[in-house]
Amino acid sequence: MRLAELGEFGLIDRIKANVAASPSVLLGIGDDAAALLPAPGLVTLITSDMLLEGVHFDLSFGDPQSLGRKSLSVNLSDLAAMGAHPRHFLLGIALPRELSVEFMDRFMSGVLEQAERFGATLVGGDTCASKGGVAISITALGEQRPELVVKRSGARAGDLVCLSGSVGDAAAGLQGLLRGERDGFLVSRQLDPTPRVSAGVALAEAGIASAMIDVSDGVLADLGHICELSGVGARLDLAMLPLSDEYRAVCGADPYALALSGGEDYELLFCVARERRGEAEELFQGLGLRLSVIGEMTEKGGVELLAADGGSYAPRQRGFDHFEAG
Ligand code: ADP
Ligand code: MG
Repeated sequence: MRLAELGEFGLIDRIKANVAASPSVLLGIGDDAAALLPAPGLVTLITSDMLLEGVHFDLSFGDPQSLGRKSLSVNLSDLAAMGAHPRHFLLGIALPRELSVEFMDRFMSGVLEQAERFGATLVGGDTCASKGGVAISITALGEQRPELVVKRSGARAGDLVCLSGSVGDAAAGLQGLLRGERDGFLVSRQLDPTPRVSAGVALAEAGIASAMIDVSDGVLADLGHICELSGVGARLDLAMLPLSDEYRAVCGADPYALALSGGEDYELLFCVARERRGEAEELFQGLGLRLSVIGEMTEKGGVELLAADGGSYAPRQRGFDHFEAG
């Protein structure tokens, strides 16, 4: 069956039928606006990310379910980078009339599977027909105590620069997809990233991270945002960049290029005062997640890159910018 036969309200009913109730949702899908019960003493953190067919994804690359998971994951990653617990989200979708209902069922099962895994409830959205491709826009709401929220602006000179997981995988995965690969570790890191929600929340609640950001545009660009807003610089030791074996196998002569500028890793990049390194290491050990110290924040502005041989490294590209000429 096509969406044209199901209709807008048929689709909304179908979505609604699979959404579980939540005590904080007084009114969910179905009215003109949702009514949410705020938790006393907590602030709401709200973030939005758009995914466009042809810009952010290609329907031939992966299955609709992982597209659904990723659509929510990129938003959960932003909440994680603030140290917020995910709570609610809105889903805006523009869909071609000829799209199959089966596609949407699978897409929604991915969205709702990820929502359940991370404790977020779908409370509303908007649905329209698209004359172009598929467009997805999710707005996610999270909560945290105001004093625990981790901003980009809190880094101090001397803080260690830390990174969760590994970087470069998603960008290498995209190159693989463009060459026709459809599975494997790198491809799954591109199509189905894991937002580091537990790590972000734990870092915030332990007060360990002085500044934090999620790596969506690439380590260099995202570290640049922390530097700018914190009024400090950074020096990175490139030999310390966490690279997966799978990435190393395909990265060619320059292992740093994609790891620094590729983006879409959705790892957490954060700063930690030197004396709290042990606590951060213990926290990550408990989560079973890799933690790497890749450099330090400096008084001097800008990001300095030291290659393995001690010489300085000049990146070819800084990071992803939607409006830059490709
Ligand atoms: P209105 O015209 O008043 O904006 P809509 O007909 O667009 O209302 O939506 C009806 C209800 O369905 C609203 O509660 C809205 O939040 C919800 N809704 C619409 N599209 C979606 C969607 N894609 N996902 C979840 N809820 C949706
Ligand atoms: Mg509407």
